[in-house]
Order: sequence, then C-alpha cells, then structure tokens
Amino acid sequence: MSYEAGGGATTENEEGGIRMDYRSFLIKYGEIGLKGKNRYKFEDALIRQITIALKQVEGTFLVSKEHGRIYVDSEGSFDYEDAVEALRHVFGIVSICPVLRFEDRNYETVKRQMCSFVQELYGDTEKSFKVFTRRIDKSYPGSSDQISAELGALLLDAFPKLRVDVHHPDLSLHVEIRDEGVSIYSVTIPGPGGMPVGTNGRATLLLSGGIDSPVAGYMIAKRGVLVDAVYFHAPPYTSERAKQKVVDLARLLARYTGAIRLHIINFTEIQLYIYEQCPHEELTIIMRRYMMRIAERIARRSGSLALVTGESIGQVASQTAESLLATNEVCTLPVFRPLIGFDKQEIVERAEQIGTYETSIEPYEDCCTIFVAKHPVTKPDPARIRRSEEKLEEKMGAMLETALRTDECVVCTAE
Ligand code: ATP
Ligand code: MG
Repeated sequence: MSYEAGGGATTENEEGGIRMDYRSFLIKYGEIGLKGKNRYKFEDALIRQITIALKQVEGTFLVSKEHGRIYVDSEGSFDYEDAVEALRHVFGIVSICPVLRFEDRNYETVKRQMCSFVQELYGDTEKSFKVFTRRIDKSYPGSSDQISAELGALLLDAFPKLRVDVHHPDLSLHVEIRDEGVSIYSVTIPGPGGMPVGTNGRATLLLSGGIDSPVAGYMIAKRGVLVDAVYFHAPPYTSERAKQKVVDLARLLARYTGAIRLHIINFTEIQLYIYEQCPHEELTIIMRRYMMRIAERIARRSGSLALVTGESIGQVASQTAESLLATNEVCTLPVFRPLIGFDKQEIVERAEQIGTYETSIEPYEDCCTIFVAKHPVTKPDPARIRRSEEKLEEKMGAMLETALRTDECVVCTAE
C-alpha cells in the first residue's frame, strides 16, 4: 500500500484557503499504567470501536496498529468532517491527527514531503513554527534534534513568511520516522479520552427521559463499560412520545457506546398498586426501590456487573443521602452513580457537550412525575419503608414477574 498524498479527503486550513489531501489519521491513545496483556486488550478494543464508528462514514477505511500507534488509512476518497466527527465519539482516543504518510524514508524524500506539506497547508501564512522529530528507528542517520534543525532551516528558506519560535510556536510540525515509513502532521484534534467500550464489562443504566441519566450512561461508557438500558413507562399515563424520547436518547448515546439494548418495562400496575397501598409521601422512594429491583433482574440476565443511575446527592427529595441509602438497600449489584457530586449546572453543561440536552428537555411526562406527593419524605427511615412495602407482599411477587414479561427490547443504534 502506498501512503502518497492524493485521492483522500480534502480539508481547508484555518484561513479557509489552502487545501490539503489527507489519506490517513494517526490516533493517539493512552491510559497511563496500561501494560502487557491489558495494553493489547485496550488496543484491540480501540481498533474494533474505531472500525465500528467509521462504518457510518462514506469511504473505505483500514484501521491498523503499528508499534504503539493506531493508524486509520482511507482507501479512496472519504468525507473528512464526517470521519473526524465519528472518531471524536470513540472512547479511548486522546487525539486525532490528520497525517501525511509515506513509505520512502530516504532523507531527500522526507525533506521534499515536508516542504510540500507546509506549502499546501501554510504556504502563504505568517506563522511561527517548530519542528519536532521522533526517530522511532534509532538506526536512522542523524539525531532527532539535528533533523529538526535541518528541516527548520529548509522551511525558513523556502517560506519567507514563516519564522521559528521554539517556545510558543503557532505550528507544531511533527515528523515521525519509523521502520514502516514516515509520518508528518501538524493538527491535533482532541478525542474524548477514556477507555474503549468493551474493556470493562457491562452495566445496566436506568435511563429516563431526563437530563441526568443519559449523562450518567455516557460517563460509565467512557470508562470502557458496555451499556444496556432499562426504561420504565406507565401507559396510558405516559405517552408513546415520552417512550420515543427515551429511544431517541439511547440512539444519541449509541454514538459513543455502540448499539444499546433498551429494555422497556411497563410499570403501570406496580405504580398504581403502590399508590393504593402506601403512604403518599413514600411513593417516590418505594417506586424507585421497585425500579432498582426490576433493573437488577434484567441486569443479571445480561451479565451486567452493575446498575447505573443519574442520581446526584440532594438534587431532589428522593436523592438525599438518606433516600439514596433507602434506594440502595434493595440492590445487591453495585450501583454506579457517576453524577453523585455534580451540580445540576455541571450536568447540563455535560449534556450539552455530548448532545443529549436538547432531546432531554423535550416536554414529555415521566412516570416519576405522575404520582408524586406534595411533600415527599426527604429522610426516609428504611425500617418504615420496609414496613410499608410489607403491605404490597400479597400481589407484588406476581406483579414483578408480569412486569418483567412486558420487556420490550429495542436495539438502539446511532443512525
Ligand atoms: P433524570 O434526569 O435522569 O431523569 P432526575 O433528576 O429526574 O434524573 P429522578 O427522576 O429522581 O431524577 O431519577 C433518578 C434516577 O432514577 C434517574 O437518573 C434514572 O437513572 C432513574 N430513573 C428515574 N425514572 C426512571 C424511569 N422512568 N425509567 C428508568 N430509570 C428511571
Ligand atoms: Mg427523571
């Protein structure tokens, strides 16, 4: 395969004028401390996730690993913006560098390619620059500093508007010389960081139509966890549209997590039964406990190792420390609450960043908001809650089984 420029994706430089044909991306990743077997697992999962993400982009791509680097090479033309956008959703990627790659390591070729790279991208701009050279192949003649200095001098000669600034350059021109060839790049686009999905087991997210739970799902997936989701609806009190909103949210999340299996559970009977039998100020907390119990049953079926919620201390009555204790009591799986210490404003900002906010604020009812008490308990006593639940014993076992049988599993994909 040849890595000569041409035939790839054309992109404009910052000034919007000069264009560059990129055919490849250099993907930087890194979670400090990953060694040996774990490193391979991480890299292989990252390649898998990149490959999946690029399936949605027009073009054919080859994703490969070469000596601690991952490259994406296009075969033919592709949409540059779409490819970058897809890569920006892959957890584990720290940065994305559009790169010029070529196999001929002859020093004269390196010089020539460097000049044409700079010509195409920055030829007529007034900028300061610095050349950074890495010789991964240490047998390559000359030292890295020497090569940087020589290439720098060459560029100064060829482009009178460029000047060198070794401390705060506008342009960082990187040259990497490896066994398999040479890479030149100057642009570094930040990736989302984190770990590739699939490297840290599976968890089940309680996904409502609100602002918080999609963000919670994002944060857990960012640590490499595969995410399944459960949504409780209460037809006819909650509408089809409210359900569709949750499907939409799962699809937005799926851009980061890959396909999400969303379990939709009919919660109406259980909710009405709790409403009839229990003190109204305890409704929300008891309802939340049954949601957790059902979610745990679904989670165990799929081999999930944890539940995930969007709870944050003190946000509402059902999320005081006392309420969280009461909710937590019914779970045997660990419950991950990644937003536990976040202010609402911080959660909103994150929701905006990841693109779920606009959908979350669509005004459709949630089952939690339908049967709410005017004055819910803020410091529930677990013993009292347990006593209230005893009144439900007669029918609740069968109701839980019935609710589980209503499970409608929708596979939510990004597009
Ligand atoms: P969110 O914005 O995520 O809905 P919230 O601030 O509205 O959160 P609650 O309604 O108290 O908070 O819900 C707390 C958590 O319980 C949610 O973050 C979510 O994980 C879960 N949850 C609440 N309602 C549902 C539901 N109908 N289906 C699935 N999970 C739910
Ligand atoms: Mg909610």
